[in-house]
Amino acid sequence: MKKSNFWQTRFGFFAILVLTFAAKDLFAAYCDFNLGLSDPYQHFIIWLSPFGLAAAIISLGLYVPRPLLSYISMLVLDLANTVLLFANIVYYRQFNDFLTIKTIQNTSKVSQGLGKSTVALLKPQDILIWIDLIIIVALLLLGKIKIDQRSYGISSAFAASSAACFMLVLNMFLAETSRPRLLVNTFDRSYVVKYLGLDTFTAYDMFKSARSNSVKKNANADELNQILSFTQQNYAKPSSTYFGKARGKNVIVIHLESFQQFLINLKINGQEVTPFLNSLYKSKHTLAFDNFYHQVGLGRTSDAENMLETGTFGLSDGSVFTSLGSENTFQAAPQILRQRGYTSAVFHGNTGTFWNRNEVYKNFGYNYFFDANYFSNEKNDKIGYGLKDKLLFSESIKYLEQMQQPFYVKYLTVTNHIPFDMDDDDKDPNFKTTSTSDQTVNNYFLTAHYLDQAVQEFFTYLHKSGLYKNSLIIIYGDHYGLSDSDNDALASVIGKSADDWTSYDSIKMQKVPYMIHMSGLKGGINHEVGGEIDALPTLLHLLGIKSQQYVNFGTDLLSPSHRKAVVFRNGTIVTQKYVITGSRSKRPSLYDASSGQPIAWKTLTAGQKKRLKKLIKFELNSLHFSDLLNNRNLLRFYTPAGFIPDQPTQFDYKTNYQQMEKIRKQAGSQSTSLYSQNGGSTTSDYQTDASELKNRRDEIDSVDLAKLQKLSPSTSKSKTSSK
Ligand code: MN
Repeated sequence: MKKSNFWQTRFGFFAILVLTFAAKDLFAAYCDFNLGLSDPYQHFIIWLSPFGLAAAIISLGLYVPRPLLSYISMLVLDLANTVLLFANIVYYRQFNDFLTIKTIQNTSKVSQGLGKSTVALLKPQDILIWIDLIIIVALLLLGKIKIDQRSYGISSAFAASSAACFMLVLNMFLAETSRPRLLVNTFDRSYVVKYLGLDTFTAYDMFKSARSNSVKKNANADELNQILSFTQQNYAKPSSTYFGKARGKNVIVIHLESFQQFLINLKINGQEVTPFLNSLYKSKHTLAFDNFYHQVGLGRTSDAENMLETGTFGLSDGSVFTSLGSENTFQAAPQILRQRGYTSAVFHGNTGTFWNRNEVYKNFGYNYFFDANYFSNEKNDKIGYGLKDKLLFSESIKYLEQMQQPFYVKYLTVTNHIPFDMDDDDKDPNFKTTSTSDQTVNNYFLTAHYLDQAVQEFFTYLHKSGLYKNSLIIIYGDHYGLSDSDNDALASVIGKSADDWTSYDSIKMQKVPYMIHMSGLKGGINHEVGGEIDALPTLLHLLGIKSQQYVNFGTDLLSPSHRKAVVFRNGTIVTQKYVITGSRSKRPSLYDASSGQPIAWKTLTAGQKKRLKKLIKFELNSLHFSDLLNNRNLLRFYTPAGFIPDQPTQFDYKTNYQQMEKIRKQAGSQSTSLYSQNGGSTTSDYQTDASELKNRRDEIDSVDLAKLQKLSPSTSKSKTSSK
């Protein structure tokens, strides 16, 4: 066989596929993934990685005896690998992480809300991921690449597979030398990809996922006892000043999507980005926290919800909502509060299946879930992740006023979500945003400004309707909106320099607002370190509910013995004194919490080291026990004193309005809904400058009525009785 003909043989074709796949795999490794490749050794390993498992997979096509089928098999295997690569590239742009089996399994549930922003995440260079396959198929069709009709024995295919497997083993050996126990201590997925490549990472993840499914089946009550003793020891007694201060009040939780603490009091072009939230932050009736961190993992928004309402962490991988939320037993805020006579609801302008909420909320004990079905649906009413915030708040009133008081309600806003798109009509002509080179950064301030206005309109209504004086209002940001890739452009906006930006700065960017506001509440800005995990015990104590019997991994922020440390899902720990990264490694990296100066481990005294090790152990245990609790669904073995579990099947989110109306009518003069107290609807108290409504004020009422008619046959009467 002449050497020049090699490319026209079956093995030549195999080589073409492997080389082109390797080329785009490496392109992605360098241009799309931020793997932090530093020394030449790491570069060498990454160049090796595509010739291992990826080549082994494509080589399976060589075993097919019939020539045409063999070519097609190799192409299909290459295509499957390419799809995996491409999906990871797109996912990485948004989440700074790689796809796991759990995420893929739950994609159908998440993707319903992701469509628009996925398109926004595509880049022209992505064509390079597909171009090789297109060209190869074209060359095959044109006969430029001929199908090699000779037959080969198993042994030559085996030789190719063996060569690939040898590369894989060599790759793993070199990785092990450079980074021992890589697969045992997986604290960061990017390390596995960096040292073993995407295919090996995915295969490893499949193996891990299969193993965790078998773990759940072997759960036992002893583990629960271990966890209970851990959380009991961690319990912090409530402050005598605040315990029961909001007893019997309505609770209104406003979830500010992707809202970071640095936005508070930030001025751009001389103007405040969020003037209303700033005024609340400074109000003497607001307890604000300026050292409060989000602690979400891959479950993002749903992780924040989970922490705030169940007092347990999200998972190390995937989302509690999507992977466990349908089956698990929870002891969540709506359920705990129902024992005190509360009615609960969520208002959210996205589809109910997003993050599996329609199932999880039943297990959380929510009476009502008002998803996109309950709100207007005109083309211009939605953007990005659903109904625009101003419309969400204003259209929620006709439902809110029907709820029996006291109520616990949550508003999940969506407009301030990456890519922070907004229609021109919704932009405040008086607010000028930044003009950095990063459009994401510029947009972020526009949507944050819009969100601020939406919250202000809602507050104006709360005052006007009288709900304000009976309500405790909690406002928080769920997680970061701008990711590390935006820091270069962001640095100058917040008075920093991109050149001196450190991982300490990135960690400080994970602060989000947490504010508790109530008429007459003794407020102030609290500087103690805290996080989302601390929210549930804080709320319960304010409402005068003891929390010790519940499994909470955080502590009351207002308690004198509040634990002043937070742990992130990736193991980063922040205390009043230190910021600690790499806490799972032998020598964690330390920074001074206020100056950001690195602290060398060896400069610490023996006593300091010992205390730090103890602290790290405790925080990592906290994550570990929370994972154990959720992964094995251990709360099904535990009923706290005074807690009556709900039947999730008792809830039906399709007939919310009918249910509320029926309750009001049955209660008669005992009805505590705002509608009853007011002797009719309060929707006319709501003022919004939402551009969508300007031209169809009258029209929208009729649209709503028609819609409510569908959901509830007797609604039309409510309008005539309004005053
Ligand atoms: Mn979110």
